[in-house]
This record gives sequence, C-alpha cells and structure tokens, in this order.
Amino acid sequence: MSKNVVASVHYTGTLQDESVFDSSEGNDPLTFLVGHQQMIPGFEQEMQGAKVGDRRTFTLIPERAYGERDDAGVVQLPRSQFPPDEELNVGMVLVAQVTEGPLPFRILTVGEENITVDFNHELAGHDLTFSVEVVELREATEEELEHGHVHGPGGHHH
Ligand code: ZN
Repeated sequence: MSKNVVASVHYTGTLQDESVFDSSEGNDPLTFLVGHQQMIPGFEQEMQGAKVGDRRTFTLIPERAYGERDDAGVVQLPRSQFPPDEELNVGMVLVAQVTEGPLPFRILTVGEENITVDFNHELAGHDLTFSVEVVELREATEEELEHGHVHGPGGHHH
C-alpha cells in the first residue's frame, strides 16, 4: 500500500474496552485512495507497504486518529435555533450547515431554553485499535488522482 494506490481492506476498529466502533465485517470492503486524506493519518502510516493478504493490527493514539477532545467544542445553543417541531433527544446526532460544509454534532442535554451540543468527533480522545486485512490493491486511474477519490465499486459513481 503506497500513495496513489486504490486499496480495499476489511477492518475492525475497537476501543480500549474492546467494544467495536466500526467494522466492514459482513459488508463490502472499505475502498480508498491512499495518500489523499481520505483516511485518518495513522491508519495509512501503519498500512504502508502492506500487500494483498497482509493483516496488521495496530493502536493509534488520538493525535494519530481523530484528535483530542476540545472542550470548546461543547456549546450551548438556544432552543430557538432548532426547528420548533423537531423532537430533540440526548444522544441525537444532527448536522449543522456551515460555510465549510456539513458539521455533525451530538446533543448532550436538552433544556427548556438551551440545548448543549458537542461538535467533537465521537472518536476524539480515544485510542483506537484497528485490525486490517488488505483485500485488493490497484493503481489509481488518472481521473481518480485528479478527483482525489476512488471511482467504481466502493467509490464515487459519477
Ligand atoms: Zn470523481
């Protein structure tokens, strides 16, 4: 696995308490263009040089995965900023539309006037262990390199 290669992998990600937060088991493998910021940085670093059939297991500290939690990401928003007829529940994930694009956040508390939300990534602040098996590697096409993403199975269709 190296830059500008299209990689397909099966993977399982676990937290330190061994609960699984994400897995491709039972689904199609995950396909991505290596070296184009599609994956968290540590993932690609640990898979450098892996060949088809190779299995690797590694643990990433937060700064190599989704970063540390930022307390500034927890903010109170007035209830009036939400649609009045939308039912708001603790744990719900909503998406704010900001100039940089969609920004997901989680609801922490629901008050009469204020809603406390968390813009931190759900996996921020966690050490993540990945078990990865390389299923397929191929050279990216020129068009894929231009677009910075994979076309066809597991990628964009356009
Ligand atoms: Zn494209």
